[in-house]
Amino acid sequence: MLESNMPDKNDESVKRMAELLRKGATMLAEACPQCGSPLFKIDDEMYCAHCDRPVIVVESEEQMQTQSVKELIPELREKLLIKLQTVGSTFEQENDVESLTKIANLMVLLLQALHRLQQL
Ligand SMILES: [Zn+2]
Repeated sequence: MLESNMPDKNDESVKRMAELLRKGATMLAEACPQCGSPLFKIDDEMYCAHCDRPVIVVESEEQMQTQSVKELIPELREKLLIKLQTVGSTFEQENDVESLTKIANLMVLLLQALHRLQQL
């Protein structure tokens, strides 16, 4: 683990790694984008012992979120369609102008939501 060309720096980072592990941190499979050292997870935060600073890996988290949203789309679309049918039949039976306005607004919102889902 210790390299002869940078003994002080490595020694410091090894000490910090030991300290992090002692505090209950877990070593992650992800590497620091700056130095390539393994990252540690402590208190829901990723930390690089070598750089001695917290690391935020935004890109991969966004990718994960996009992925999970995409998986949800077919289910969401089905729910929206079912709701639209229900709202549509309520609309047919309703005669009160105020209620009709509310229902119509709701239908527009549902249709907009459907449209946005299709664009994702
Ligand atoms: Zn680092």
